[in-house]
Amino acid sequence: MKDYIVRASAAGTQIRAFAVKSTEIVETARVRHGLSPVASAALGRLLTGGVLMGSMMKNETDVLTLQVECGGPIGGMTVTADSLGNVKGYAVNPDVMLPPTKGKIDVGGALGPGFLNVIKDMGLKEPYSGQVVLISGEIAEDITYYFASSEQVNSSVGLGVLMNKDNTVRCAGGFIVQVMPFIDEEVLQKLEENIRTLPTVTQMLDSGLTPEKMLEKVLEGFDVEFTDTMPANFYCNCSKERIEKAIISIGKRDIQEMINDGEEIEVKCHFCNTAYTFSVEELKVLLKKSR
Ligand code: ZN
Repeated sequence: MKDYIVRASAAGTQIRAFAVKSTEIVETARVRHGLSPVASAALGRLLTGGVLMGSMMKNETDVLTLQVECGGPIGGMTVTADSLGNVKGYAVNPDVMLPPTKGKIDVGGALGPGFLNVIKDMGLKEPYSGQVVLISGEIAEDITYYFASSEQVNSSVGLGVLMNKDNTVRCAGGFIVQVMPFIDEEVLQKLEENIRTLPTVTQMLDSGLTPEKMLEKVLEGFDVEFTDTMPANFYCNCSKERIEKAIISIGKRDIQEMINDGEEIEVKCHFCNTAYTFSVEELKVLLKKSR
């Protein structure tokens, strides 16, 4: 089963909800970046939250960036998503190792204290940006806090990554539920009760629940209407042309130095770890295009 996102509304339009299965996204990130188990869980949760938040944007050209700046051993993470289910991301220290705490992967320990920055580029002059301090470093709570404090939207966010014994990704996914300001008190109480008694995301995914079933559990007792489904993918739009432009922009002097070294160079894309090589001959062509 491929990764996908579902969107739903419930109790009329009082509740809106989003869920995703992101197993392949997280496994792709793990393989590309050589992520350790704790880095897989940390970046996996951020990718899962990012692809959901990206899908909540209105326009095809909108771009969402989630950036974790932190003092813990993972050193920081960046995830970028569009509104079409494409997401990419990286961790500064992909091979960070930490012992589990209480039998669980210690994502909060990997992040340590820090900030979550949310940047939305919606084609306006200035991108929107909001920053919150990390509450727990477990990502889901941090995104919930961001919605409450920066967007004034009451939300519940659940994110989960479960690893196999061989350190591959067993399952990953998550949900975001948001309530409108005009929500009825009884509807809200029922929803809060549902969320209090909800199994964890990894328990739900591991027991075989699809994103739809997961939302039906979150929204148990309500009329749920599924309004949209779309595929979700780890996707990076880098290309040799883009890397060429980056090299050209560093200026004649630096390119000349690379040529003088007489060896081909390798440039890796941060987001997907794809390596692009440039021969001395190619560098000479770029030197001419540079200023
Ligand atoms: Zn790339």
